Amino acid sequence: MKGKNNLYFSALNHFTMNKYKIIAVLTLSMLFANGIQAQVFRAGAAVRKITPDPLLPVSGGIGKPDPVTEKKGDLFTRAMVVEKGDTRVAIVSVDNLGWTSVLGDRSRSLIKGIPHENILIGATHTHSAPDAYAFPDEQGKAYADLSYLDWCTKQIADAVNEAVKNLQPAVLKIAVGEARGKIAYNYYASDLYDPRCGVIQAVAANGINKDKPIITLVNYAIHPEVIGPERGILSPDLCGPLYDRIESRVGGIAIFMNSAQGGMVTADNRCENGQEATNWEECIRIGELLADEALRIVANAEVQTDPDIFCVSRNIKFPIESPVMKYIFQNTPLKFPGSNTDSVSTRINLLDIGTARILTIPGEALPNIGYYLKRKMNKPQSFLFGLTNDAFGYILTKVDFDSFKRYDYITRTSLGEMTGEIFINEALKLINGNLSQPSEKQ
Ligand SMILES: [Zn+2]
Repeated sequence: MKGKNNLYFSALNHFTMNKYKIIAVLTLSMLFANGIQAQVFRAGAAVRKITPDPLLPVSGGIGKPDPVTEKKGDLFTRAMVVEKGDTRVAIVSVDNLGWTSVLGDRSRSLIKGIPHENILIGATHTHSAPDAYAFPDEQGKAYADLSYLDWCTKQIADAVNEAVKNLQPAVLKIAVGEARGKIAYNYYASDLYDPRCGVIQAVAANGINKDKPIITLVNYAIHPEVIGPERGILSPDLCGPLYDRIESRVGGIAIFMNSAQGGMVTADNRCENGQEATNWEECIRIGELLADEALRIVANAEVQTDPDIFCVSRNIKFPIESPVMKYIFQNTPLKFPGSNTDSVSTRINLLDIGTARILTIPGEALPNIGYYLKRKMNKPQSFLFGLTNDAFGYILTKVDFDSFKRYDYITRTSLGEMTGEIFINEALKLINGNLSQPSEKQ
């Protein structure tokens, strides 16, 4: 704005009118214009491809990544930025298993005009993308391509910076409803999953694209692991066809944010013969079905003109009790800020956009935790962004921890017995507006 003021004042020299009158008129008109501009809800989006070329091995979890020979679809980072008054927030998705704050913070440092704590970066949890944790093997050797990861952090920052440039006046359509059809189930106990799908659609308020979607964000709990890491294929899994379907049907940019999909809410690729469909065609079937359901759910939502934005965050600390997780933190070449062998720090966000209330989860919360938090969020349109800001394995309650034999794996790959309790308590403090307690600095 400083540059603009100088221009106005240098222009004054060319006028013969009463100098003070001109200043008064200009100041008033500038204030008026700025006031209108600053108070209007604006939204923007941008996309960057992050498919490695040449292709890289892919990771579906701890251990050495699996080699690939082909790709199905492309990997992307997708950014949306919303703004109202002085508040600007970015929501970013990355087609990867998990995207920790070590990488997220590199992008944050390259992003202009958005406070770091207002930049929410989540992973879609595809199990067919390069290793972003730099998991060590049993000998302590890591195989991740660190230069690829660094390139991705720049692509993410570029996408957010472009989304800021693309900001334009917008209105919102928000809806939460049950996604019908064969999309997800719980592999451990088939009915124990949350079928609700949340949709936030920002629609252009004026200009040549008036009434056309700028962004359609889909929030749903599912493991995108139809293809998985072991088939020699690099892929966004079902998220790719979901993006394509939404963008071809309504235009704009589609973003997928996962939800509370831990232990073990996954894609329903069960076949009648007791087998599973594990190919790209099944990714297309499920991705397109979820896309169609999301568009059906949001189709008749009431238009929200000039919605408000509210964003707060809290830094929290988890003890690292699991030997497996300790080993990873000790041996990964990625250095986690604020972590040592005993604890790790992360950030959770609470974000209101119009009538939507969003809580972030730094990992894979089990669906019962998801149900509980949605119920406590005190808004009918509750969204959970899982694997966002960090992705520290499974998050289960102390009661679930080390209980059923079925939970052996998710117990070993959680930080510890108290992770769920700490997360729930800190989330409730955010939800209840109890922000006066000093939060842990990273
Ligand atoms: Zn998972």
